[in-house]
Amino acid sequence: MDEITILLVTGNQNKAREFREIFADYAAAHPSLPPIRLLTSADVGFSGEIEENGATFEENALIKARALSSCGYIAIADDSGLAVDALGGAPGVYSARYSGKGDAANNEKLLSELEGKENRAARYVCAVACVFPDGDSFTVSASCEGRILREYRGKRGFGYDPLFFSDDLCKTFGEAAPAEKDGVSHRGKAARAFVSAFYDRLSQKAPNGKEPI
Ligand code: IMP
Repeated sequence: MDEITILLVTGNQNKAREFREIFADYAAAHPSLPPIRLLTSADVGFSGEIEENGATFEENALIKARALSSCGYIAIADDSGLAVDALGGAPGVYSARYSGKGDAANNEKLLSELEGKENRAARYVCAVACVFPDGDSFTVSASCEGRILREYRGKRGFGYDPLFFSDDLCKTFGEAAPAEKDGVSHRGKAARAFVSAFYDRLSQKAPNGKEPI
């Protein structure tokens, strides 16, 4: 069976590893489906920055996927961030650049913005966008619920993970092993929702099992 090549628009090899694992798990559970071979931006010689000026995670994911969709491959990209209820959904699409000074300063800013606030509810959100060479596109999104602690716990993960107490795991993502986090995280859920939606879309494009592109 021919494999399907997908270009994941990212320079982050950890993201690529997570997507590859999820695609491989899905292929193992569905042996009649063509397996997915995942390339990343580096494989097509792209190392530039893409301006993420969308108002939502979906828009930003689409901007990134469209940026490399002329390469001839099915292009996918994700965009994610933290939404805190008491801050009206901030930092949201600005999660990476919240303080303008990197992860440690982002966390300090989050703690100071939440000082004195009782409602600490928050969620991580992830959107995955897919753009086909014919211009057709779709997005899927997922989230995971939790709350922002008043102190750091754990040194694993990245970004806001030491402050994000997961309702699913009853510990912070900073304390969780990678596989534990992937099992409940916004990105893990969105990638699993994506792969299922992707094969559905593919079967609509090639109802006779013919190569769709
Ligand atoms: P991006 O989707 O890779 O652009 O991530 C945007 C930003 O959201 C990151 O730089 C982090 O600040 C935050 N973020 C997204 N997902 C996570 C996560 O799983 N853990 C911690 N921070 C995250």
